[in-house]
Amino acid sequence: MAHYDKLVFIDLETTGPNPLFDRITEVGIVEVSDGKTSHWSTLVNPEMPIPAFIQALTGISNSMVENAPTFPQIAKALLERLEGSLFIAHNARFDYGFLRNAFKDLGYSLRCDVLCTVKLSRKLFPEEAKHNLDTLIARHQLQPSGRHRALADAEVLWQLWSKLQESVPAQTFTHTLNLLLQRPSMPSNLPHDCLDDIPDTPGVYLFYGENELPLYVGKSIHLRQRVMSHFNADHRLYKDMRISHQIHRLEWRETAGEIGALLLEAQLIKELQPIHNRVLRRQRELCAWQLRPGANGHLQPVLTYASEQDFGGAPGLYGLFSSRRKAEDMLRGLAETHQLCLATLGLENRIKADKPCFAYQLHRCLGACIGQEPAHLHQARLEAALHKLKIRTWPYGGAIGLIEEGSDRRKDIHVVHNWCYLGTVRTKREVNALLKKAPNRPAFDADTYKILVKAVEKQILQTIELSNTGVSLAA
Ligand SMILES: [Zn+2]
Repeated sequence: MAHYDKLVFIDLETTGPNPLFDRITEVGIVEVSDGKTSHWSTLVNPEMPIPAFIQALTGISNSMVENAPTFPQIAKALLERLEGSLFIAHNARFDYGFLRNAFKDLGYSLRCDVLCTVKLSRKLFPEEAKHNLDTLIARHQLQPSGRHRALADAEVLWQLWSKLQESVPAQTFTHTLNLLLQRPSMPSNLPHDCLDDIPDTPGVYLFYGENELPLYVGKSIHLRQRVMSHFNADHRLYKDMRISHQIHRLEWRETAGEIGALLLEAQLIKELQPIHNRVLRRQRELCAWQLRPGANGHLQPVLTYASEQDFGGAPGLYGLFSSRRKAEDMLRGLAETHQLCLATLGLENRIKADKPCFAYQLHRCLGACIGQEPAHLHQARLEAALHKLKIRTWPYGGAIGLIEEGSDRRKDIHVVHNWCYLGTVRTKREVNALLKKAPNRPAFDADTYKILVKAVEKQILQTIELSNTGVSLAA
């Protein structure tokens, strides 16, 4: 089991089940640290009436909480109590969720590993059907000092914990905890507490091996959970096992939201080329068809590479493809489906210019090669067939900022120009600094393009137009 400074058995009483609308009325904690046990509990003034049936259930009445401290008044002390602890509760999701929300409203973030005693009981005694607290009290002959009051219930959990520990072999108990906590075997080269500070926000994480060798870059909207899942023996993948052996250091960068995480991930993968990320598109081979006027004055597809021209600004592009072969295969496939002429498209050489193409003889070409189909019709059909693959022309006059807001009111500005991601900043001054470097724009990148097209066309984020001369940031 990972190291915890203390175990905190906790129970809350509330005005109801909904963490968004209901409030806490009592907190009870049994804290176990260095073999010493201490109790702490307080009534909390919910600043709203307690429904009658809840009063009847818990015995906590409106008059009892009238002069109790409010949650903001106890928040700081409570947070200190919980920090560095293993948070243990029955249906822990409920208590943890409630507290997390209440803290969040005050600008604090609760960050604990959480253990649910329902899940623990279920794992240790899978043959039993019921795992509610009353059943467990009876099954394990626990001695509650009361029920449905916070401290009494927290105490029952501590009793339950001790009983469970006695009733199964130590190894089984530890193994079960590790499974539930999803942190069984930290890679041997990492300090055991290195996961502690990772927030559960959106962001990007980086794994490094010996000599700072980049191993892997990943993204998630729940950084902490995602990073832990790499080291979870329960569902460990072969790739994760290899990473586990090689990892020496990990690093993370928080982002306001998912789009920032996606953009940063794509950028870092291209930049660092980590050995466990499959970099699917090699930048130098990234290509697209471009319709250019041919000898007869009509548009013909010509293969063009991202290394030759800026795909973000160029017109008439269709793609994207990671190799010439893939580009040609796609065009051949379209020609077949739409009865287009391969010779006219430049994909087939004819023996003589006045002879029809091979497909024509099989009635698979409508005769553009011998003038039977007018050239402009063939061109129009080609454009229609290619339509879905059209690379969007940059719809703005210059750079734009995509504003992404995080749940903690963090505001990121992703600066983008011609479908290229320039970087993410937070202030107007940083925007200007970034735009000044704009001539050194990164190369067009297929992954970034896809992320941005989706974000821009679906208007997922608020957009502001930026210019090199002056930036007007409304917000
Ligand atoms: Zn033909």
